[in-house]
Amino acid sequence: MLPLVLFDIDGTLLRTRGAGREALDKAFLALHGWPDATEGVHVAGSTDDAICRDVAARFGASWGPASTGALRAAYLLELTRLLVPAERTEVLPGVSRLLDALDGRAHIAILTGNWRSGAEVKLAAAGLGGRFEWGVYSEDAWERDGLVPAARAVAIARELTVGEVIVIGDTVADVRCARAGAARVVAVETGFCSPEELANARPDLQVKTLEDGMGWIVALVAGG
Ligand SMILES: [Mg+2]
Repeated sequence: MLPLVLFDIDGTLLRTRGAGREALDKAFLALHGWPDATEGVHVAGSTDDAICRDVAARFGASWGPASTGALRAAYLLELTRLLVPAERTEVLPGVSRLLDALDGRAHIAILTGNWRSGAEVKLAAAGLGGRFEWGVYSEDAWERDGLVPAARAVAIARELTVGEVIVIGDTVADVRCARAGAARVVAVETGFCSPEELANARPDLQVKTLEDGMGWIVALVAGG
């Protein structure tokens, strides 16, 4: 039985210098004519489906699965285009070494509020596409707090015997979703929350970067 380590994407594994939000804004503008659609909408730590719902509410529009499907397709085209310049995507320090260090000691998967297709584009742009066999995405849980239970269900479906679950993420929402799913949580300060905000959420471990906290993270995963 191995622990399951669930990695958030944005602000944890990589940064895209705002490409995700920019692509969403362009898609909303192109399809609905809404300017700066995500302005004032809580994006970091949310899910793409919840963001659509919140944006539609902001513009007083109704929103359903067909709207989501069209928006997602337009978003994916924009995101792919925006992430063509290699320098737009930054892999955060220690990612590759931590994944190597966890190899054979834990099951590894993605936990993100991104739609699956968008997550795959970002991971590929970062050269991390081959590092994760599976994940849970916006499609798997309407709210982020449902993602850890979704990951447990996928693990069972994949016939993995999972011990403790550990979420690694950069936002207070990651800490909350770990708690909602009875998982432990590592907060990393490379993303969208200040060190103080993260500390107030009381993660099991808080690190400046994955590189900086590698020894601690490996020890926590090993149950040490
Ligand atoms: Mg994040």
